[in-house]
Amino acid sequence: MQSSIQEILNQDSFSREDLIILLSANKEEMELIFRKAAEIKSQYVGNKVYFRGLVELSNICSKDCFYCGIRKGNKIVDRYFVEDAEVLEAAEYALKNGYGSMVIQSGERTDKVFVNRVTSLLKSIKEMSEGKLGITLSMGEQTEETYKAWYEAGAHRYLLRIESSNPDLYYRIHPKNARHDFEYRLNSLRLLKRLGYNVGTGVMIGLPFQTLDDLAGDLLFFKEFDIDMAGMGPYIEHKDTPLYEFRDQLMPKSERFYLALKMVAILRIMMKDINIAATTAMQTLDKQGREKALKVGANIIMPNLTPVKYREGYLLYEDKPCINEEASECKNCLEARIHIAGDEIGYGEWGDSRHFAARQGRDIGKGRQ
Ligand code: SAM
Ligand code: SF4
Repeated sequence: MQSSIQEILNQDSFSREDLIILLSANKEEMELIFRKAAEIKSQYVGNKVYFRGLVELSNICSKDCFYCGIRKGNKIVDRYFVEDAEVLEAAEYALKNGYGSMVIQSGERTDKVFVNRVTSLLKSIKEMSEGKLGITLSMGEQTEETYKAWYEAGAHRYLLRIESSNPDLYYRIHPKNARHDFEYRLNSLRLLKRLGYNVGTGVMIGLPFQTLDDLAGDLLFFKEFDIDMAGMGPYIEHKDTPLYEFRDQLMPKSERFYLALKMVAILRIMMKDINIAATTAMQTLDKQGREKALKVGANIIMPNLTPVKYREGYLLYEDKPCINEEASECKNCLEARIHIAGDEIGYGEWGDSRHFAARQGRDIGKGRQ
């Protein structure tokens, strides 16, 4: 006989079958999962939300992921690279406004010019902020040497989504070639961990061909890999990408949103002290998507600090919100939204993953400043 949702929630750990049942929860059952996740969040990470000012550094990418609007093969996109001075302005804004950290995200490039430019930017941000701003990078797969150089220059967290932990699905959403190799991606995550980064990963939810069994496998993968941070959101179609052809197979957007919300809540229950982002893609499918994610376990928000003139160039998917909002408008709107969700903001704090600190066996308060 199948266990009920409540019985499963009372367990200390979940099997793949349990996770599939949780992910299949109907509206009423979902509330049980959400309530449990909210309790765990409050108990293990508290009700503080940490801001990471996001700069989308460049949409120039050497890869061709089938889902992404800025893939190399999309010739319609005007490519840009934010000027160093503009990145430093964003960093100053973050510092002045009490954001403890920044996230710098970019299309993937491994050439020397790019790598050196990022290294020097990291050093400048650290120098300008006197080490006060924490820096997360999300720049895809790089060599060990590059990851090491960036760590030494001041980055201490890295986000690299596995996109799917099932290699079969991975190769249905990426070309199968040396630039898109599942094992290489997995190894990049291992490298990041070994080098001492706080390591974050995640998946898109509601992809064509994806099953609940795949998502259950993703959750088990996060647990087994012992991640420090997670960034997950719904997959959203983009008309100039190869996956658009399969849009008829997608579940309706509201269903995709609630499935993503269940993933956030279940992960919070499974990994009590990690950092989980309330992502922009959540907000794209539901106007209050990020607040809803905060309520069921997320504790990180990434307000966009990319200069407005570049934002149209970083359209990973359709209907991306806030592409015309200046940083200050973004900040006011977010503050109100966070208070509505019943949380407070951890101004001026790095807000590193408690899980990372526990993993390192050291005191959370010390940081690496
Ligand atoms: N290039 C780096 C990488 O791929 O890791 C970092 C930037 S990439 C744009 C960041 C994330 O955007 C990807 O990991 C992917 O999950 C997400 N993304 C791309 N296209 C998307 C889409 N159509 N819907 C939702 N998320 C998408
Ligand atoms: Fe490039 Fe990242 Fe988009 Fe893939 S997901 S095409 S690596 S920006």
